[in-house]
Amino acid sequence: MKIIPYGRQSIDDNDIHAVTEVLRSDYLTQGPAIPAFEKAFAEYIGARYAVAVSNGTAALHLAAMANNLQPGDKVLTTPITFAASANCARYCGAEVVFADIDPVTYTIDLDKVQEAFEKYPGIKGVVPVDFAGYATDLEKLKAIADRYGAWILEDACHAPGGYFTDSRGNKQLCGNGQFAGQAIFSFHPVKHIATGEGGMITTNDKSVYERLLILRTHGITRDPELMDKNDGGWYMEMRELGYNYRMPDILAALGVTQLKKAEAGLLRRFEIAERYTSGLAGLPLTLPQYTPGHAFHLYVVQTEKRKELYDYLRTQGIYAQVHYIPVHLMPYYRSFGWKEGDFPVAEAYYRQCLSLPMYPTLTDEEQQYVIEKIKSFYA
Ligand SMILES: *Cc1c(COP(=O)(O)O)cnc(C)c1O
Repeated sequence: MKIIPYGRQSIDDNDIHAVTEVLRSDYLTQGPAIPAFEKAFAEYIGARYAVAVSNGTAALHLAAMANNLQPGDKVLTTPITFAASANCARYCGAEVVFADIDPVTYTIDLDKVQEAFEKYPGIKGVVPVDFAGYATDLEKLKAIADRYGAWILEDACHAPGGYFTDSRGNKQLCGNGQFAGQAIFSFHPVKHIATGEGGMITTNDKSVYERLLILRTHGITRDPELMDKNDGGWYMEMRELGYNYRMPDILAALGVTQLKKAEAGLLRRFEIAERYTSGLAGLPLTLPQYTPGHAFHLYVVQTEKRKELYDYLRTQGIYAQVHYIPVHLMPYYRSFGWKEGDFPVAEAYYRQCLSLPMYPTLTDEEQQYVIEKIKSFYA
């Protein structure tokens, strides 16, 4: 039986050619493909700078470091995300606090954000997540965060190309740095742009950009202007504790060709969403609410029969998925005292949510098969 996953990469001959070109070149890493990918990505997102790293989690870690996050500080995020959005705070020794989600958009509830700032003094930063591709209203979030002097690190892994419309009617692309100090992206194969493993940080702040370049390569600089002294051509200085979070050129070259397909992929995702919305109308399912800026990393439905539907679809070769088990209920975060009942909207959402297959190469026939199987489940 053919398996239809919830998400998968789209690789064509251009991608394969770009990778083999790098394999025949002088640089497998630290070569010219990295700045080429960074420049093209920054342009696509509408940000001034982009820094490629080894994965989205490394991007979160370095961005948290660039905000000078310290042990004892607090970071606020949503419980409905991948654990890495919260873990980046723990890597810096900071504490994680959560605010419940909005029941319609499934992104962090801005009223609850306001309450969290009052309830937990010492929140230094917020990590909003553009969940499923729905862009968080960062203009509104920034108005709250500014009152408390907190920075914003946008987890835009689900939303390259997505946008919200600000109070002046302007489109604000996810990751463009107009409201958040930094944004991060992942190039895991289920995401919009696939490099196998890979990540990116975008920012409009030149000093943050320069610091990120150093942090991604051990905290080492070779720039004479940044060094205390210079013993000769070989000389470099390790100025702070960084990591090896570099992306290889093989993957950056793939990123460049993937990026060329990103806009078409986004349109296709939207088309698939519209077909689900009309094809599933009338069934006992809650379908997602969306705006034209939705990037549709996921198409999430809610049903009281979630487990039964999930199991039935598996028997039909349809591998739907659950996004996400609330982060505060993971045993690691429970060990800090978080428990059932802390975030009732997120927990109710988790009990019913299911992500249907959503990726640009999903054919109309395959999608029709998914829709028919869901209909026969309820018949
Ligand atoms: C995928 C993802 C990450 C982590 O990215 P990796 O590249 O897998 O490390 C972080 N946050 C969200 C919301 C994600 O979807």
